[in-house]
Amino acid sequence: MDLKYVQTTCPYCGTGCSFNLVVKDGKVVGTAPYHRSPVNEGKVCPKGTYAHEFINSPDRLTKPLIKKDGKFVEASWEEAIKLIADKFKSYKPDECAVLSSARVSNEENYAMMKFARGVLKTRHIDHCARLCHASTVAGLANIFGSGAMTNSIPDIAQSKCVFVIGSNTFENHPLIGRQIMKAKSNGAKVVYVDPRKTPTGKQADLFLQFYSGTDVCLLNGMMQEIIKNGWEKKEFIEKRCNGFDELKKEVMKDDYSLENVSSVTGVPVDDIKTAAEWFSKSGASTILYSMGITQHTTGVDNVKSVGNIQMLTGNLGRPGTGVNALRGQNNVQGACDMGALPVVFTGYQKVIDEAAHKKFADAWKFPDGIAEGKNGYEVTVMMDVLTDKPGELKCMYIMGENPMISDPDLTHVEHALKSLEFLVVQDIFMNETGVLADVVLPSCCYAEKDGTQTSTERRVQMWRKAQDPPGEAKLDWVIISEIAKAMGYGEQFAWSSAEEIFNEMATLTPSYAGMDYERLNRPEALHWPCPTKEHPGTPILHIEKFGMPDGKGLMTAIPFKYQQERPDAEYPILLTTGRCIWHWHTGTMTRRSESLEREEPTGWIEMHPEDAKALGVKNNEMVKAISRRGEITIKARITDTIKKGVMFIPFHFVECAANMLTINALDPIAKIPESKACAIKVEKIQEA
Ligand code: SF4
Repeated sequence: MDLKYVQTTCPYCGTGCSFNLVVKDGKVVGTAPYHRSPVNEGKVCPKGTYAHEFINSPDRLTKPLIKKDGKFVEASWEEAIKLIADKFKSYKPDECAVLSSARVSNEENYAMMKFARGVLKTRHIDHCARLCHASTVAGLANIFGSGAMTNSIPDIAQSKCVFVIGSNTFENHPLIGRQIMKAKSNGAKVVYVDPRKTPTGKQADLFLQFYSGTDVCLLNGMMQEIIKNGWEKKEFIEKRCNGFDELKKEVMKDDYSLENVSSVTGVPVDDIKTAAEWFSKSGASTILYSMGITQHTTGVDNVKSVGNIQMLTGNLGRPGTGVNALRGQNNVQGACDMGALPVVFTGYQKVIDEAAHKKFADAWKFPDGIAEGKNGYEVTVMMDVLTDKPGELKCMYIMGENPMISDPDLTHVEHALKSLEFLVVQDIFMNETGVLADVVLPSCCYAEKDGTQTSTERRVQMWRKAQDPPGEAKLDWVIISEIAKAMGYGEQFAWSSAEEIFNEMATLTPSYAGMDYERLNRPEALHWPCPTKEHPGTPILHIEKFGMPDGKGLMTAIPFKYQQERPDAEYPILLTTGRCIWHWHTGTMTRRSESLEREEPTGWIEMHPEDAKALGVKNNEMVKAISRRGEITIKARITDTIKKGVMFIPFHFVECAANMLTINALDPIAKIPESKACAIKVEKIQEA
């Protein structure tokens, strides 16, 4: 028997835990601890424990599929690539759109970005960061000059006050939750802000149960209390920030008196006061946030408010502090870094910047140039264009994404995708989006490839190949390169390994320029920015100055605005959505993991006992949840951990898809949808 251990990085959440894949006779059969990673020190959550179970699922795609007369038939790679190349060549550049992927490696995202801009010559490339942290990228870049988590994961344990808002960290980033518990056992206060008393809330010293969408009001109220008591850090503000007077003018308004904030948010006055005092006086306060902050029409405002309170209290650039956006998917940070966005090349170099555009055009050497230097469409806007401007977008290439579950208002998404003339989906399993495709291409999962991914803390870590792919499945970057070659661009895609792609990317990307596989191949890996081969990487950002032109952070007056759709007489319940510990994103992988699926085999709607009583609904009874966009049938779960008037649905489950109900209302800057708040009604299903 041949048995070996291959160290790799978890393919699920953005924490970036390391573990070993156990390989027996050439097949992955289990996972085992890898103790040397500073991120997780040998521990993993249930998803990491069972991260081997989907790899050899009989459902894996093993051959290209072409739809003929409405049915998929198996095809050779030659036939599939020729068909795709011929079709792609028949469209004008901006008639094509590309969705890259937060699940695949940095190298594959770079390859897809180069393919979109160099081969298809389209400006329209995006990926699912749009749905989770586009507000972080836009908001933090605007106030700090860099749109990423400021501190590292192990650094959280050094905090004296951990303020968690809009993140169920213990379920969604469990190994970051472990750092919160380390901080707590070192004496830190933990403050938790959420509409639900989640497992994270149960460990908090102070739980602020607010209404989803009232984040800015709460933070402005806390800032008023801090300023009134003189608890702000005057020296930090003076030396390192602009905009204090504007911020002060806004937050000192009567609207943000403790009483008014309490009435809007539902949080008792004394709790707001205590939170403000603990936070500003601890000496080292960190804020952890996730999609509860970002997935709103005010997502960018929420992110800037988080930045405001950290600048006001001088909690940046030191251990145990920071604005720490917890990214949801394993490589969503990397996909953004690689320029799988409609406005930037790698390393956030703007496509509208003439010098950046010339730099990439010169380096890539496409004889007929690259996509013009104008911003493209975000994925949420692509869907609107498809339905509202027929004929403008005609073809789409989707790699490792499943918008038919992940995007808001699924009826709208289905209508949009069905209006395409030609759709190519590249994935490891057939999924709800693949069903709508003209061609489906089988690709490799994380255990079948070498490459890198960048976790939420900007740590660039390795994936290492543990087994061969099933059937004829190919690496994503190989598939992209073969299509490019068939379209006449072989020279630009003549890579023979992921490492070659990484090295090309690093020469074009200042924040990755000092990295190579040799330097990354160690337990602590490297945090970007790492501009030179001698640079040690940057675990903490903004130590002496911010990334703004004058080096100063920008405090901003943020008036509070409600969400787009508030409960009313017809739809009286505020719906919020999220994840659970057992599943990940659209369930493509976790629902094919027997151990995880057994724990949570379907979705549910969480409701307060008083709401359930008013509806006449008992625990585990099926109900109808209805919004202005659609309806689902789903099991009721009654719990007093949720705020009365608010209900929660996890979004992983196709049979009761939360996104049938959610609204495609967008933040005006980040174009992120308001998945965290919409209005619904719930009806008991009457027995026949
Ligand atoms: Fe994987 Fe995230 Fe769990 Fe770590 S915390 S094992 S990265 S799912």
